[in-house]
Amino acid sequence: MNNTLPVVVIGAGLTGLTAAYTLHKAGVPVVVLEASDQVGGVIRSSQKNGFLIEHGPHTFQSTASELMMLCESLGLTPQAAAPLGKQRFIWWHNKLCALPTNLFSFLTTPLLSANAKWRLLQEPFQPKTTAQGNQTVGEWACRRLGPEPVTTMLAPFISGVYAGSVARLGAVDTLPMLINLEQQHGSLVKGMLKKVVSKSKKFLAKKRPYALYNVEDGMQTLPKAMAAVLPDVRLNSCATAFTKHHDGPFVIGLEDGDSIRASHVIGTLPAHALATVLPAINAAALPVIPYAPIAVVHVGLPSHSVKQSLNGFGVLVPRATDKRILGCIFTSQLFPARAPSGQTLLSVFVGGATDPISVDMSDAELQKLVMAELETILNIVPNTPPSLFSITRWPKGIPQTNVGHANRISQWKDAVQKQYPGMVLGGNYTGGVALHHCVAEGQRLAEGIVAQWADVETNGEAASPQMAGIG
Ligand SMILES: Cc1cc2nc3c(=O)[nH]c(=O)nc-3n(C[C@H](O)[C@H](O)[C@H](O)COP(=O)(O)OP(=O)(O)OC[C@H]3O[C@@H](n4cnc5c(N)ncnc54)[C@H](O)[C@@H]3O)c2cc1C
Repeated sequence: MNNTLPVVVIGAGLTGLTAAYTLHKAGVPVVVLEASDQVGGVIRSSQKNGFLIEHGPHTFQSTASELMMLCESLGLTPQAAAPLGKQRFIWWHNKLCALPTNLFSFLTTPLLSANAKWRLLQEPFQPKTTAQGNQTVGEWACRRLGPEPVTTMLAPFISGVYAGSVARLGAVDTLPMLINLEQQHGSLVKGMLKKVVSKSKKFLAKKRPYALYNVEDGMQTLPKAMAAVLPDVRLNSCATAFTKHHDGPFVIGLEDGDSIRASHVIGTLPAHALATVLPAINAAALPVIPYAPIAVVHVGLPSHSVKQSLNGFGVLVPRATDKRILGCIFTSQLFPARAPSGQTLLSVFVGGATDPISVDMSDAELQKLVMAELETILNIVPNTPPSLFSITRWPKGIPQTNVGHANRISQWKDAVQKQYPGMVLGGNYTGGVALHHCVAEGQRLAEGIVAQWADVETNGEAASPQMAGIG
């Protein structure tokens, strides 16, 4: 290892900045290259007409310990959502139905027929999956839970979180924790009961109740805070090529013709950018990872025009209804300071793997669709002019962990590790899409390099190139 050259991190999204921050805190010199004119990647917050809006992620959970600790180390105070955020709704049979949270609400919910409830109660007696690797989320869940809960609850949840389709996402690739519960305890119900008991003990010990969080002034405060601590973050610096000669350093070419030399490279750009920007990286072996497009639409309305009581996190809309929006977060109910007094802020999601073409609608078409569907779902006074209407399109929004994803990534990791020791690659397509997964992945990508750096400083010799490879 050449300790006179910095480690170069490509991409200033949450994964890249966490990796850079981890290196910096360990005393490793680091330069961050970011193609766009701001840090955060898909984490974008802005002010408009007195509303504070999130163009990308809106919340994370108190259980996301890596993220909570990162905020703490940066001196940021995560902002808890109002407690009503625990209640979620599903639009079903033309009304908002509360998602069951206890036995009584499960027995009385209109989201499931009596037969479906009876079938669901038999979950503990269903045999364990044997061929997990080849099953879609839908196949796996239908077998364990029966088809109705998949249609009315799981599929909308999968659309809301992964912008994905239960018919394509792989069960082990997308829901590894649930598969583990099944494998360890023979049943989701048994496994969850055990987890609830042990978690509540932990929470009581920590005195930190379950809640949803954002960061004051918007989620982008977090990447901005990391960038402010880092000595060398270069915006508008798009990496376009790289070379490495045997034992020599990496040379990263930039769009403006400049180049930078690096001892190591941590590439956290999305997989689709990796394939075009750095074609030399075993492009042939790079698995094609589909990204689902998604549009985030913010609607501000006078609160008196919204007749439906918004006492919850939001509403998910199953594909088996006549509505096209995927769901809507009642943002100003969760975080009241995000809307001016007397106003309501709604964040609507459209598109995803089940309806990708809706993201291509014109602004006028999207506005017509969203307003018409919100009017029905939330009982809004017809033709109320919105005080805010904002559309953010993410044509390649969320990587899809389709069947076989984990295996393909693992094979690709092995191939790149052999081809380019000294370079590690990763992001939300390798470590998981949730914000806390990206923090954990960024830390993991950096930690191998930190260990090697410390080795060189202590022993004055290059450590084994074994550590290098892919995240
Ligand atoms: C609409 C939406 C809503 C979401 N909601 C939530 C939520 O509520 N909660 C949650 O936990 N998660 C949510 N997520 C997921 C989460 O936000 C992402 O998985 C995470 O932020 C991705 O971080 P990343 O650093 O891996 O990738 P990115 O954010 O994509 O960052 C990659 C960076 O690399 C840069 N780059 C690309 N090419 C180059 C190049 N050649 N040279 C230099 N830089 C380059 C890009 O400009 C970008 O800044 C949401 C995602 C989206 C899209």
